[in-house]
Amino acid sequence: MLTDTLPTNWSYVSEGGESIVFSYKGPDNPLYTGTVLRLRKCSLTNRNPPNAEAVVFHEEIMARLIDPTFLPKIQHVHVGQGAELWLNALAALCEPQRPLERKRTDRIDSRCQNAALATDLVGCEALTIEIKPKWGFLPSPTHLSEATQPIKTRTCRFCMHSHLKAQPSSFCPLDLYSGEECRIKKALEGLWEVWLDSDGAINNFRVFVHGKRISSEESSSISKEATISALLGILTTSPVLRTLSRLQRTLDALDIEGLATLWNAADVGGNPTVSEWHEFITSYLSSPNAPPPATPEHLRYHVLAYLLSATFKDCSIIVGIASRTVTVIDLALKSIDRLSKWEQLDREILSAYAAVPVQDRKICVDAAI
Ligand SMILES: [Zn+2]
Repeated sequence: MLTDTLPTNWSYVSEGGESIVFSYKGPDNPLYTGTVLRLRKCSLTNRNPPNAEAVVFHEEIMARLIDPTFLPKIQHVHVGQGAELWLNALAALCEPQRPLERKRTDRIDSRCQNAALATDLVGCEALTIEIKPKWGFLPSPTHLSEATQPIKTRTCRFCMHSHLKAQPSSFCPLDLYSGEECRIKKALEGLWEVWLDSDGAINNFRVFVHGKRISSEESSSISKEATISALLGILTTSPVLRTLSRLQRTLDALDIEGLATLWNAADVGGNPTVSEWHEFITSYLSSPNAPPPATPEHLRYHVLAYLLSATFKDCSIIVGIASRTVTVIDLALKSIDRLSKWEQLDREILSAYAAVPVQDRKICVDAAI
């Protein structure tokens, strides 16, 4: 039980939209040494009960889609007696290290009874890099509107979103996913620049030295050239990016526009159960490149597919430089409530990018088209 350890034994590592991660720094313990703890967060304004199936989802579903060699080994742990007090103490301890924008919106969910323990991928090596590769494909034109088709099939989602956020960068995910050495190198150099310029505020690239995340001001402690060259060697020989891009693309056959047309004609339903996920995966794996037609009776298939695609668009990879390992992390289940927000965001991104003169729009090349 987690409450057998002290909250001070756990050191803050990082957090995503759904969960927060700590690394064990306490006295030697056969269960906890060399592990990280992942706890669910909850919104400060909307304290819905946590999705108890999230951990099960990760293990059972992801292992059917991604070779488990590339997934962290996860085990469940009970928080134990006095869970709320223990979690509140941990929440108070980590508060000063959390990014301001996260502190404003959410916190550790102190009602959680269960948590996930995973291999500490960054603490066990001298140098590890975390990359959030984002969307790795251009959408098929089939379900796009006349207005968005010429824009979306030319400039990738990440580059358009960066424009909306006024965060221009030379990094384009399609370079990273291209499988071509010179384009991957360009992408890595772009990510390095983003890291230096934004000091980690843009979280697509993070560097950990002996488990501690280093700021761009400390970047002189590692060699840019040697690190990029090592990353390049590892990423060009690993199937992970190719797998992520294929999953994202084949699970998002309609684009949010095509999907929205369907959900306006039928009811999307609630969040799927684990068994519904399994049925879906079986159906998807039987013909990943030939989804059912875009008709309202197949809405549920396309909704589940889109939710999974969103998970793969938002995950990160951890690259161990010495071990030459690539591990996919942050594969959290997305809630069905997000669909309409994504549609809204898509409209905002497109309307901002439509205002860019055609000759100034970025041309992103999808190597698979
Ligand atoms: Zn791009």
